Amino acid sequence: MKALLIVADGMADRPIKELGWKTPLEAARKPSIDYMADAGICGILDPISPGVPAGSDTATLSLLGYDPLKYYSGRGALEALGWGLKVEKGDVCFRCNFATVDESLTVIDRRAGRISNDDASKLTEDLKKVKSPHRSTKFLFQNTLQHRAALVLRGPNLSTAVSSSDPGKVGEKVSEIKPLNGSPEASFTAKILNDLMQKFHKVLKSHKVNMERVKHGLPPANMILCRGAGRIPEIKPLHEIYRIKAACVAVTSLIRGVCKVAGMQLLNVEGATGTPQTDYLAKAKTAVQALNENDFVLLHVKATDVASHDGDFQQKIEIIEKIDSMVSFILDHVNIDETYLALTADHTTSCATRNHEGDPVPLAIMGPYVRRDDVKEYGERSCAKGGLGRIRGINLMPILMNLIGKAEKFGA
Ligand SMILES: [Zn+2]
Repeated sequence: MKALLIVADGMADRPIKELGWKTPLEAARKPSIDYMADAGICGILDPISPGVPAGSDTATLSLLGYDPLKYYSGRGALEALGWGLKVEKGDVCFRCNFATVDESLTVIDRRAGRISNDDASKLTEDLKKVKSPHRSTKFLFQNTLQHRAALVLRGPNLSTAVSSSDPGKVGEKVSEIKPLNGSPEASFTAKILNDLMQKFHKVLKSHKVNMERVKHGLPPANMILCRGAGRIPEIKPLHEIYRIKAACVAVTSLIRGVCKVAGMQLLNVEGATGTPQTDYLAKAKTAVQALNENDFVLLHVKATDVASHDGDFQQKIEIIEKIDSMVSFILDHVNIDETYLALTADHTTSCATRNHEGDPVPLAIMGPYVRRDDVKEYGERSCAKGGLGRIRGINLMPILMNLIGKAEKFGA
């Protein structure tokens, strides 16, 4: 037996006035997704706990069976891992931005005009050559997508208890990084970071790439802002907990990072972009293929969350309909006598508030031996009447593992 878990990021929503108080899921035409609900068992799920708006990282940890309240240790390390940086236990990681500042270090553009990958790569080459401010601390710096980058600090006496240098908005000065507790490690880390950011600034402000950018009327990427200090969560990989082989199909670095920590194989799909224009079918094909060699596959789609943050419920409906054709392909190509299919969202993202919200998300599980219930349609409200009732994110993995015969008995 195998299990395929499809997670549509932020797919759950609240009722929308313009849709006659339906949610995008309720308004979308989605025969295959509804078939999953009809043939399966449904429920609603609180990613963390009722009313707590979950981040994609904490929610994904939870959906993989790890209690984020126990294991979450910041976004920085997960994202760096997801980008393929060789993060080790104990490293302190940060999410960074190339930004534009003026002479007085006031932020003019937090994304340096969404600098191209090409320019960011050239600047990164020279930032890598900067000498570390302290001989016991090594750093790795890597640009990722456009203005985004990751920074890893390695060595003794480091701490994640430091503030961010990113003021979060334009028109404010770059913040000094401060220790967040009284420990010598926090002070040491803050000092290293402030020194390193200064060194980076020195290299960037006179860099020829930036001279060229200014000549062409583009904002120079003359500052690195860093935030989100974190370490790798200390969790047991899935193969140790359930003795399964697991893989993930995801583009979003944060999700890839979580899956990497869980010991899953990260699969790459040509044409998958993490945007509404992603190649949905290519992802479905890769996931179906991966089931041949794995017991458990996670298939993640980011686009629903992107549309929600833009407040674009029409686009969200279109994306849900594309996910429906993805599900249709999967239903046609997996051996349904030996496979459990589950569909859920990692959290609710409201098109009205454009934020993650704490409402539960729908869940449907179909497969050979589920206790099929009376729910016929997949939606936030219809699934609430299903046989699974209301569960927490961390309950899902044990349920799936039990269905595929990988759960161990508790007790004699
Ligand atoms: Zn998410």
